[in-house]
Amino acid sequence: MGLPDAPESCRIAPRTVVGQPGRVACACARFPADSGPAGYATLPSRALVARKRTRTVITGGAGFIGSHLCDYFVERGHEVLCLDSLLTGTADNIEHLLGRKNFRFVKYDVTDYIHVGGHVDNVLHFASPASPVDYMEFPIETLKVGAMGTHKALGLAKEKKACFLLASTSEVYGDPLVHPQPEDYWGNVNPVGPRGVYDEAKRFAEALTMAYHRSHGVDTRIARIFNTYGPRMRLYDGRALPTFFRQALRGEDLTVFGDGSQTRSLCYIADMVEGIALLLASNEHEPVNLGNPDELTVLELAKEIIEVTGSRSRVVLKPLPVDDPKVRQPDVSMAKGVLGWEPKTPRRQGLLLSLEYFKKEVAADNA
Ligand code: NAD
Repeated sequence: MGLPDAPESCRIAPRTVVGQPGRVACACARFPADSGPAGYATLPSRALVARKRTRTVITGGAGFIGSHLCDYFVERGHEVLCLDSLLTGTADNIEHLLGRKNFRFVKYDVTDYIHVGGHVDNVLHFASPASPVDYMEFPIETLKVGAMGTHKALGLAKEKKACFLLASTSEVYGDPLVHPQPEDYWGNVNPVGPRGVYDEAKRFAEALTMAYHRSHGVDTRIARIFNTYGPRMRLYDGRALPTFFRQALRGEDLTVFGDGSQTRSLCYIADMVEGIALLLASNEHEPVNLGNPDELTVLELAKEIIEVTGSRSRVVLKPLPVDDPKVRQPDVSMAKGVLGWEPKTPRRQGLLLSLEYFKKEVAADNA
């Protein structure tokens, strides 16, 4: 699977912030080599040469999105430290990286104090159960990693003067009353419903991130990630897309909840990784939506997967779960304007790119 090239700036060394001795701006901030934006000065070139390679800590790096980020930054020469408790992720996702000199995996629960020796340039905080099945099985762990895990990851970024990026979610909009959802929509969340543990954990994580930015000057980013799909999703994570692939490839009925008219917007993983890398490389501290605005109903998705897999499966309707969002579509104008980013992979292509992976997973699961 081809992931996009990193912005050139991702490979450059950190710069000091004028007037704030000891404060270092994001290692990969998107500045031209010699003419930084107001307030920033470039270190002398000798210091740039002497600087060690960019070091990126990825919490939740053995999960679906986190492992693709590990691939991306390892390929671009970063020294990547992946911290993951393997609560919902698996070492299989990063096994191919274990022999690489610039990759290290430590099994670690990031709700505990995080100590990393040496310099750190970027902290990408992706640890969290993410699918409804997972956060309903692990409600307290979800709240803890959103609150205490984010606190510890921010503490590491503060200590190391590193750039911090939070993996937030479209779930902060809850069951939205505004459609599509722009970043300035505050959401419609039921704090005590079954999804509240995830939605409120992420809302708290966003608030804490902004507090560290405003009070401690930490160089932060917030990615509001919408539904993402691709290789390394788990067959049983309960999300519609892997469930439909599994059912279609086995010739079973595809279970659609409600009447299937609820909508989703699905972003292919390579596009998402590119959006995250560009956000990291930007100077944007406000939340930015990342997702594919190409909206479809869940029923349409089921039919597309039946077609892509060449399956003879049928669709059956089941009762809608509590608080299931009825519509979901990102407004990505901010990402387009600020990052120059928009998803490139048409859904059919993304589904075909995912098909081989799901075939192998289903075969292994059947064995
Ligand atoms: P995932 O479950 O595949 O990955 C999450 C990883 O975090 C797992 O490897 C898990 O073991 C690890 N983890 C959980 N708690 C931990 C802890 N306390 N300490 C260390 N590691 C821990 O999920 P994903 O789909 O890759 O999601 C990654 C991030 O992106 C999550 O923060 C999620 O909220 C966010 N996100 C994902 C999507 C999506 O469509 N996949 C959408 C919106 C937001």
